[in-house]
Amino acid sequence: MTESVLSWIIGAALIFAFTVPYLIKWNRKHKQTKAKLDEAIRIGANKPLMQHPIIDLSRCIGCGICTRVCPEGEVLGLVGGKAVLINGSKCVGHEVCKESCPVGGIEVGLGDISSREDIPTLGPNLESNLENVFIIGEMGGLALIRNAVNQGARVANSIRERLDGRKPEHPIVVIGAGPAGLACAISLIEMDLPVVWLDQSEPGGTVLQYPRRKLVMVQPIDLPGYGMMNKKEYSKEELLEIWEQIFQKYKPDFQGGHQLQAMEKHEDGYVIQTSQARIETEYVVLALGRRGTPRKLGVPGEEMSKVAYKLLDAESYQLQNILVVGGGDSAIEAAVGLGQQIGNTVTLSYRKAAFTRIKTRNQEQLEKAIKNGWVNPLFESTVKSIAIDHVTIDHQGEDIKLINDYIFIFAGGVPPFGLMESLGIEFGTSTIS
Ligand SMILES: Cc1cc2nc3c(=O)[nH]c(=O)nc-3n(C[C@H](O)[C@H](O)[C@H](O)COP(=O)(O)OP(=O)(O)OC[C@H]3O[C@@H](n4cnc5c(N)ncnc54)[C@H](O)[C@@H]3O)c2cc1C
Repeated sequence: MTESVLSWIIGAALIFAFTVPYLIKWNRKHKQTKAKLDEAIRIGANKPLMQHPIIDLSRCIGCGICTRVCPEGEVLGLVGGKAVLINGSKCVGHEVCKESCPVGGIEVGLGDISSREDIPTLGPNLESNLENVFIIGEMGGLALIRNAVNQGARVANSIRERLDGRKPEHPIVVIGAGPAGLACAISLIEMDLPVVWLDQSEPGGTVLQYPRRKLVMVQPIDLPGYGMMNKKEYSKEELLEIWEQIFQKYKPDFQGGHQLQAMEKHEDGYVIQTSQARIETEYVVLALGRRGTPRKLGVPGEEMSKVAYKLLDAESYQLQNILVVGGGDSAIEAAVGLGQQIGNTVTLSYRKAAFTRIKTRNQEQLEKAIKNGWVNPLFESTVKSIAIDHVTIDHQGEDIKLINDYIFIFAGGVPPFGLMESLGIEFGTSTIS
């Protein structure tokens, strides 16, 4: 064998040794990501709810940087060597993917919203099609605390300009106590305008739903009532502490437990109907977010304090008899999380005969939890009534009684869009900024 043939063989062997493992790895990764995309499509998690990365495929070079940088996890993935939106519903618009793309191939926006039935029609000053009814924050389609705060402050300014030095006859009604409602209500108070501020729940909005100690990424925000928030990251607890400080300082007329139910046109303004009161006003600011209201079971005893619609801290429940209701990912995650705590007896009640729309990972975790006796599933069962120390369940036509300390219900949320439509709000085209 000549020397040159030998060097060709060595060269080819080296290329083979490096490229084949790479191609195998690439192919495996591609298949995994494709499977994740298929699963996201199956459970509907691929569809974005708010602003999201819009990829220019003609620019994408498939480097994969954008798939690794998102603080919310796997929003993007590489399929066929191009970036693809996998879990669009997880995107909250941080824009880190856009900033890290070396070829400028990502924009973050809402895309074509002309046919979206979940984005209200808004004018440039965030007024809806109803005069003096404004929509701010995530409800309008844009996520992020910074956007919510800026929009809240902006609408407060618009209302002040409209009033032109006049005091309104009735207090301005702000509904929603997430960052958007907070910024608007506090700005109005700083302008010495009368405000009634309502929420179905406590102040905090979606921030309250974050997991314990979650790090929240923010770009600099001028938060009304507080000032500049300049740190890049705040823990959930730090954010709620800031809320608390603002409450201490301004003592706003905030009323929790008011769920907005209806709104009618009335003379010069509107009459707001909440679960607790009828309120007249000229100006309405809706800061309802997009996560809606937890769906209730509507059974006797559901109002008891042992019943909850979210689980933030599984570790704080130990040695308890717990019922988890639901068949989605949140129910499974809660049941598995609670089932692994010391001394808990966890029953998972679901009205259907099998779980069909859950992530494969959750399916596997649940199977393991059932096998280990951490979770007892009750298929084809519905809760009939809740008492202080027990719960009555119809299980395949037979009533059973379970000793019970806590109930977590994950029956989904009622999105706010139906309510908005019933108020007369139009959807479809928008000029949100
Ligand atoms: C897991 C997760 C992580 C996130 N991380 C970040 C992050 O790192 N950085 C960031 O900037 N943003 C982040 N966000 C997004 C951010 O939390 C939201 O964009 C922001 O909270 C929107 O504020 P909002 O005031 O519009 O609505 P929300 O905060 O959703 O508040 C809406 C309020 O309206 C109330 N409400 C709803 N319906 C009714 C009704 N019918 N009657 C009365 N009250 C009602 C609700 O109870 C709630 O208090 C994250 C979101 C999630 C889900």
